[in-house]
Amino acid sequence: MRRLAELAIVGAGPAGARAAELLAARGIDVALLDPKAPWEKPCGGGLTSTLFDEVPELAQLQPLARPVRVARVELATGAGFEVELMRPIWIVSREDLGRWQLERALRAGAEHLPVRVRSIARTVGGWRLDTNIGSLEAGALVGADGAASIVRRFTGCGLRLHPMATRVEYPRLDGGPADVLVLRFFPGVMGYLWDFPRRDHRSVGMEVPTGVATRDLVDAALDTYLGDDGSVGTPDRERKGAIIGTAPLRPGRFACMAGARFALVGDAAGLADPFTGEGIRNAFRSAGLLAEVFAPGDDRWPHTYARSARREFARDLAVASLLRRALAGTRVGITLVEHAGASDRAYAFVAATLDALALHDYGVGAFVRRWLTRYRRGGRLPSPGAAGVQEQLATLGDRA
Ligand SMILES: Cc1cc2nc3c(=O)[nH]c(=O)nc-3n(C[C@H](O)[C@H](O)[C@H](O)COP(=O)(O)OP(=O)(O)OC[C@H]3O[C@@H](n4cnc5c(N)ncnc54)[C@H](O)[C@@H]3O)c2cc1C
Repeated sequence: MRRLAELAIVGAGPAGARAAELLAARGIDVALLDPKAPWEKPCGGGLTSTLFDEVPELAQLQPLARPVRVARVELATGAGFEVELMRPIWIVSREDLGRWQLERALRAGAEHLPVRVRSIARTVGGWRLDTNIGSLEAGALVGADGAASIVRRFTGCGLRLHPMATRVEYPRLDGGPADVLVLRFFPGVMGYLWDFPRRDHRSVGMEVPTGVATRDLVDAALDTYLGDDGSVGTPDRERKGAIIGTAPLRPGRFACMAGARFALVGDAAGLADPFTGEGIRNAFRSAGLLAEVFAPGDDRWPHTYARSARREFARDLAVASLLRRALAGTRVGITLVEHAGASDRAYAFVAATLDALALHDYGVGAFVRRWLTRYRRGGRLPSPGAAGVQEQLATLGDRA
């Protein structure tokens, strides 16, 4: 293992690999440390069309992804409706995304060290990173090591996450819908279950804020969902737990994402969307911001990064936190989903909310315009799940 680098990036997920690619392309000497990459990191793997606009080279990955154009929104009963998305969500395996990103970082000139960082200490010239197979000295440090970031811990920046806990597994594609993504909501639970079809399997999981529901409850909800479509008992199923890096919007949070000779990007900085749990786009964006301002030998770059991160993310993350508190599993949210099956106005409201999330556009004016457009256009799509429930109710009625 080499002993010295201008910049050490810990973690080669979307944030770290992107930062490594962009900075190595600028001629920076980058060591990218990650023992697992590329790997199937627990994730839905949903990438919005907006991300493809922002990172056009990602189009190379589209042959490995599944574009999904319809979302089914439902309650635990299976009652719900479908919404045609304004633009497709592309769903990928994280291993495919990771391999593609790592290859690009290496081609740009970064070096990948497949090691786990165990401890970090400041030195006169920057940092010393102790890993499972030796140490590395670096002038600057970037923590791209996810929600449980060791860099965040050792730099003592004081950023406290409110992470979301998830359970996820990857059943066979033939056990569920292949061209529709499913979002299922539960009364009183501030989270949701998702079923995302990928090219040759699905990602099915559920997320809730940590400490809100026990693992057994989440597993029971997933078992019931998977039982609904008959795929229970497939031999290749292994369910994993993982956390998503979201952080409360306290004053000072963004200043905390960087300090003398270090910065945090992606989930390590708590940048995942608190409403959807989606963090890949913000991982790319934060890496892009960092690559713009990083300047070896100039100690101001961490502060410039923190300032631009605040400008870029503060509003969106605040709106997303509000949406989560107002809609996810609340009385208002559940009532909306219930009514959207029968009311054009409620249907258009939920569809416009999905549009805002998929387009990453939280502006009120744009939301109202899309709501009205959806309402005028009509075209409410009932879900087969809802029809199933109606049939069951009718049968029960007959029996009575
Ligand atoms: C179940 C689940 C479903 C999700 N679904 C979606 C979705 O559909 N769409 C979406 O946009 N987002 C989703 N997210 C969020 C998304 O996974 C994250 O926001 C995204 O992966 C963050 O990227 P990152 O590069 O910051 O961190 P990560 O992807 O977590 O990468 C961190 C890397 O750091 C490495 N690392 C950690 N510790 C060390 C160490 N000590 N030494 C060296 N390396 C280390 C890890 O091996 C890992 O490769 C989901 C998250 C979960 C948990």
